[in-house]
Amino acid sequence: MSIRTRFAPSPTGYLHVGGARTALFSWLFARNHGGAFILRVEDTDEARNTEEARQAIFDGMSWLGLDWDEGPDKGGNFGPYFQSERRDIYDKWFEKLAAADRVYQDAGAWRFRFERKPVTMNDLVCGEVTIDYRDESNTPDMVVKRSDGSYVFHFVNVVDDLEMEITHVIRGEDHLMNTPKHLQLIEALSGTAPQYAHIPLILNPDGSKMSKRDAGAAVGDYPRQGFLPGAVVNFISLLGWNPKTDEEIFTMDELVGRFSLENVNRAPARFDFEKCKWVNQQHLMKLGIEDFAVAAKPFVQDANLPISENYTAVIAAVKEKVRTLGEVPAAVDFLMQDEFSYDDEAVAKARGNAAANGLLVELACGFDAITDWSADAAKAVLSEVAKAAGAKPGQLMFPLRVALSGRGHGPDLSDILNLLGKDRCARRVRRFAGM
Ligand code: GLU
Repeated sequence: MSIRTRFAPSPTGYLHVGGARTALFSWLFARNHGGAFILRVEDTDEARNTEEARQAIFDGMSWLGLDWDEGPDKGGNFGPYFQSERRDIYDKWFEKLAAADRVYQDAGAWRFRFERKPVTMNDLVCGEVTIDYRDESNTPDMVVKRSDGSYVFHFVNVVDDLEMEITHVIRGEDHLMNTPKHLQLIEALSGTAPQYAHIPLILNPDGSKMSKRDAGAAVGDYPRQGFLPGAVVNFISLLGWNPKTDEEIFTMDELVGRFSLENVNRAPARFDFEKCKWVNQQHLMKLGIEDFAVAAKPFVQDANLPISENYTAVIAAVKEKVRTLGEVPAAVDFLMQDEFSYDDEAVAKARGNAAANGLLVELACGFDAITDWSADAAKAVLSEVAKAAGAKPGQLMFPLRVALSGRGHGPDLSDILNLLGKDRCARRVRRFAGM
């Protein structure tokens, strides 16, 4: 039997990283097994589900590269793929329950009669879970159809998994305790239950529950912050899945090849946005210079920095230094224009070396005298100026860096010297000396 998984989001406004992780694990599992991945939109709550919310899910998944084989825009043999369009199907299955005498009316709503017995499931991640339905006070018969005629989540979710011939239901642990109810329904409908894998909750680093407002919660925020989709997928894959190796950086294809449900942890995952930035940096470092420059361009343009002929060389100088593309403009502004801010702390530290400060004007004059400008030539002048004054070249390096860039960290000093050129370097050193 070929494997069929699905992602069944309720469109509530945006795609949460937890939902993206559920989608990713379902997608990876299907791709790893050469199966099919289905997108089904659980939009029965008319009041809360908007077109924008649906679109946010499609956009988020497309950006992450999680393509679906059946679903909205794609079609398939088991559609429609919006629950709001499947009313007739639910009516038909409800009739089945009624014919089997498993529903009864109570205050206008329809309740499903549980079989009074223990129900055990064997979850692929969580193991055996049993709910004992013999105790009726703890497990009252559940409503499956409301008095207004609408169906509840448990019913439509189960019907669709049966109708769409889903073989593996991979979803968040918050649904674990729903599953015995679903097994009861499936049995009453004479269906074949899929296998279940409930994946661990995602918590903040401090152990609190992740909320909508936490940084990194909305997948839609990632593109404009300058994350690469492949990096975000890589980061999300590590939320609950253990690659069983010291390596943590994987391409999409590597993830497909390595993913297995056996290596999904039972313990909650920790969401660490700093780690996400680190993973993104590792992916940025793997890009070629040209690709990196192209990816960074919109961010540089948005910051209104002038794109000059040496744009690619300028961008290359910070390729290993930034964690996101969003960090590029602040990292390169001083290489693209003469206006930039000076970091107070770096300036104070540079000024702390009185001997070196006295040498800055001399250094600028030395720069002026260089006929064939290069970083090496500039550094040779710096050594001479330092030596003549009985100082160490290293003492002049830091003030020079701050004079040229306004900050204490950044690209290699040689890159800065080469990219800025003689006149700008001399001018900035004088400006800093006179500040
Ligand atoms: N619509 C449900 C949710 O978003 C689907 C749960 C499931 O995957 O079965 O939580």
